[in-house]
Amino acid sequence: MNTKALPDELRRYKRQIIMPQIGERGQRRLLASTIAIIGLGALGSVIATSFVRLGIGKVKVVDRDHVELDNLHRQILYDEKDLAAGLPKATAAAEKLRKMNSQVKIEPIVAHAGPDNIENIITDVDLVLDGTDNFETRFLINDACVKHALPWIYGGVIATTGMCMVIIPFKSACFRCLMPQKPPAQSIPTTATHGVLINTVSIIASLQVMEGLKILLQREEDLIQKLVQIDVWRGSWTLLEIGRVENDCPCCGHKKFEFLAR
Ligand SMILES: [Zn+2]
Repeated sequence: MNTKALPDELRRYKRQIIMPQIGERGQRRLLASTIAIIGLGALGSVIATSFVRLGIGKVKVVDRDHVELDNLHRQILYDEKDLAAGLPKATAAAEKLRKMNSQVKIEPIVAHAGPDNIENIITDVDLVLDGTDNFETRFLINDACVKHALPWIYGGVIATTGMCMVIIPFKSACFRCLMPQKPPAQSIPTTATHGVLINTVSIIASLQVMEGLKILLQREEDLIQKLVQIDVWRGSWTLLEIGRVENDCPCCGHKKFEFLAR
């Protein structure tokens, strides 16, 4: 491909446009796409940075929290100045992301994604990415995305382990096919109790971005289509087949959106 002939708005992407997986057509498709990133912690930081640099049309970044000192070891969008300014993560993130790529529209939403606003947040997006750290919000994202037949990508990280799964409503298993009920809070390891490392985060978030790219590029046949489990310390990578439970799934089977109704 003669990338010298690229129009100005595409020139910065020439080293990815040259890849057959993307090409000029794929890049234009990305630039016409909108994504929502729910949660701007460690995963959300890497996801947002990657998509903005890759070149996307618009990104909605959603988080209600402010930057804290113990975020800085893993949340790559923030620095000590943001901490000193007491900025909300969504505001600080939008500022950084605009500097990375002014072609991308960034919509910061300083709010908790809850049953009252989640459908509005996802209403005009092509893909939703999970940057949260709790099951309540993931079940909520799942309900909203299944209801609106919108693909979303689950990601979770604890210490040196992580998981990632693509959910394409009514085609693949949804989050409630994987986990029918929310586990009791005391049984769930969290980063507060078990810790978290930036390199585990980077791998899982990068997988979420890669799978998200395939969806936006309409290359669904190339999706991993399995639950990916990694342990960075041990160097293990496991792929688990998760089938749709259709008739037994309250969400994608019976279309009961219990978390949206709360
Ligand atoms: Zn389901």
